[in-house]
Amino acid sequence: MATMRVAQITRPKGPFEIVERPIPEAGAGALRIKVHACGICHSDSLVKDGLMAGIQYPRVPGHEVAGVIDQVGPGVPGWEVGQKVGVGWNGGYCGYCDQCRRGEFFACVRGQVTGITFDGGYGEYLIAPTSAVARMPDDLPPTEAAPLMCAGVTTFNALRNSGARPGDLVAVHGLGGLGHLGIQYAAKMGFNTVGIARGKDKEPLARKLGATTYIDSQAQDPAAELQKLGGAKVILATVTSGEAMGAVQGGLAVNGTLLVIGAAESFPVSPLSLLTGCRAVKGWYSGTSIDSQDTLAFSVRSGVRPMNEIYPLDRVSEGYDRMLSGKARFRVVLKML
Ligand SMILES: [Zn+2]
Ligand SMILES: [Zn+2]
Repeated sequence: MATMRVAQITRPKGPFEIVERPIPEAGAGALRIKVHACGICHSDSLVKDGLMAGIQYPRVPGHEVAGVIDQVGPGVPGWEVGQKVGVGWNGGYCGYCDQCRRGEFFACVRGQVTGITFDGGYGEYLIAPTSAVARMPDDLPPTEAAPLMCAGVTTFNALRNSGARPGDLVAVHGLGGLGHLGIQYAAKMGFNTVGIARGKDKEPLARKLGATTYIDSQAQDPAAELQKLGGAKVILATVTSGEAMGAVQGGLAVNGTLLVIGAAESFPVSPLSLLTGCRAVKGWYSGTSIDSQDTLAFSVRSGVRPMNEIYPLDRVSEGYDRMLSGKARFRVVLKML
C-alpha cells in the first residue's frame, strides 16, 4: 500500500511525530490534494496544546495549504486532477443550514476547520471537502501561496469589505504576519496607507511595503497622529494587545471603523467617541474558499507577497518553535517538495 509522511500530534501538549500512514482515498464530495507547502500558524497551537474542546487525536495540523489535486472523489463536478489549489482555515460548509442559505457560509453550523476537525497540511497529502478548496494561479510558487490562505485572505478580505474607498486614509496597526500583508493590500487597493508599529526601526519596511506614512507608537500617540492626518476611515487592528488596540481607536475619522482581526484580550471602548462620530468597532472573520481564491488572484496581479522562512517537514518542531518565538520574518512555511 502506498504511504505518505505526516507530522501528527497524538495528545495535547505532545510533540510532533513524523509517521508513515496509508495515503487516504477521496470520498464523496471531496478531493485529495498533494501538498506542496503548508504555513505554520499561531492557530495551530489549538491542536498542539489542546486548547479547543472536541479535537480528536492523533491530528495533523495545518490550514495554510498549497498543492495540486491528486484524486477527485465520486460525484464531484468542476475539479480535475492536476489543478493547483489551496485550502485555508475554513474547511468547508454544508450549503443547507440557515446560515448557508442566507449566504453566510463562514458561519455554517456544520462548518469544518482544516487541520482541526480533519487532518490538515503538515503532511504529503490531505483530503478536503470541495467547498474548502480554492483555485490557485499557475505562476504563484506554493511557499508564497500558503500564507495567503490564512494571513493573506484575512487581511485582503477585511480590507475589501471595510467600506474604505480608494484615496481614503487606512491605517494598518501592527507589522507582523498579518500587518506586513495588510499594508501591501491596502496600498495596492489605492488607500492612503498608514503603518503603525512599535519602534523607529520598522519604518523602512513599512514604507517599502507601501505605507505613505509611518507612526511609531512607542514615540508618538498614534490616535493624535492619525487625527492630524484627518482621521482614519479604517484602522485594521492586527496586533495581539487589547491595550494597544484601545490606544488607536481615538484616531478614527467620523464614520470610521476599527476593524479587529487580531485575537487580542478585551479592551475598553469609548461610547462617547462612537456615538458622537458614528464610529464603529467591528470584527472580520477571514474568509471562505472563494475569498481565498480572490486573494490569490489579486496577489498575483498586484505583486503582493508574504515574507517567509522555509523549513522541510523533518524540521517541523523547529519551524513551529520559530513561529511561537514571534521572531520569524514574517511567516513560517513547511515545504514538502
Ligand atoms: Zn493561519
Ligand atoms: Zn451550513
